[in-house]
Amino acid sequence: MDVELSPELTEMRAALRKFVTRELEPLARRMDETNTVPPELVPLLRDNGYLGMRLDPELGGGGIGLVPYCLTIEEFARAHRYFTLALDYSSGLTPAALAKHGTPAQQAAYLPGLVNGTIQASFALTEPDAGSDSAAMRTRAEKIDGGWKINGRKHYISGGGDADFILLLAVTDPEKRARGGITAFLVDRGTPGFTVTREEETISSIIKLAELTFEDCIVPDTAVLGRVGGGFAVAMETLTSGRLGVSCACIGAADRLLEMSVDHARTRTTFGEKLSERQAIQWMLADSAIELRAARALVYDTLRQVEAGNDVGSAASMCKVYCSEMVGRVADRAVQIHGGMGLVRSYPVERFYRDIRHYRVGEGTSEIQRMLIARALFREAETRA
Ligand SMILES: Cc1cc2nc3c(=O)[nH]c(=O)nc-3n(C[C@H](O)[C@H](O)[C@H](O)COP(=O)(O)OP(=O)(O)OC[C@H]3O[C@@H](n4cnc5c(N)ncnc54)[C@H](O)[C@@H]3O)c2cc1C
Repeated sequence: MDVELSPELTEMRAALRKFVTRELEPLARRMDETNTVPPELVPLLRDNGYLGMRLDPELGGGGIGLVPYCLTIEEFARAHRYFTLALDYSSGLTPAALAKHGTPAQQAAYLPGLVNGTIQASFALTEPDAGSDSAAMRTRAEKIDGGWKINGRKHYISGGGDADFILLLAVTDPEKRARGGITAFLVDRGTPGFTVTREEETISSIIKLAELTFEDCIVPDTAVLGRVGGGFAVAMETLTSGRLGVSCACIGAADRLLEMSVDHARTRTTFGEKLSERQAIQWMLADSAIELRAARALVYDTLRQVEAGNDVGSAASMCKVYCSEMVGRVADRAVQIHGGMGLVRSYPVERFYRDIRHYRVGEGTSEIQRMLIARALFREAETRA
């Protein structure tokens, strides 16, 4: 049930599917049992060329295009959400920002470790009083001689407790905020004044969120990523590409959930007949298949627009809303089709059901995406008027 792919991409998908089934599925099963990331995961991904695959070869990356990268996210998401995060940690949010805005010294300091999986970064934008309205952040960086003094608190930061460094967004000009008053900093773990003050479990398996506190934390001028005042733009462009990655992860999870649902319907007998014979079940499966195909068409069209160099800000928001809500409906139907089996920990449907809920909240909620889409419509209308 594919949206049309070139012969090369079709071949790539088949190879990925084999790798995921043979190598990643057993690790996903262990992660379900132990709730920890197996130590062999990162070396396995590195040795097979999946870490840093999206970065340019001159930066030590694999130089792979956006469409094949997203296809990889999709296939990894069929096994476990965490595998897509491992890709993201080495090619996505922070590495992508470093590749685009980092100085040669910053790239040399951080990218090799991210690409070979020996260090990990987190992206710290959200604060207790600044989530959707991220420009309302209070974390402040004041200019001092030779550097910056940072004070403030970030929360809900994925992997922040284990990160070797943080891409931190802080206010450098309170008058300007989103219009040139927010700056991105690279802050190393162990910098005096930077503490991980809390870690929280989430509905998702494995993922922990951290609260990070900065108290008179002093970083040098060389810790600024990009230009002073350019941080909000760095965060927003990073989130736009992140939204496409999330959309592909939703497609991969939905694909797997539908596959499990079809398999279950074909084998489970009630009242003397297979579930697959029941119209109520067939319609749920058909609805999931329709929505999954529509999601793929939307996302792959948008990816091609990116590759053609077109602006996809609003389209990326559409992809994220549609895909994150689509996978919610597919997961809900999958639980229903599996009955009790869909709600017990020993079967993956339950884990998928929990893991995918985050997608409607993280990297910009559905409401915020709709707000951005509507704003783009009004901007278009103004140019027509
Ligand atoms: C698992 C997980 C991982 C995360 N990882 C990271 C990370 O690594 N780094 C990071 O910086 N952040 C991270 N976050 C934070 C995430 O980005 C925020 O939770 C999200 O942006 C929403 O912010 P909030 O929680 O403050 O909700 P709020 O902004 O308080 O929103 C609450 C509700 O109100 C709605 N709402 C808000 N404003 C409007 C409006 N104008 N119109 C209509 N509705 C509105 C929202 O859509 C939402 O439904 C993570 C969150 C989770 C759950």
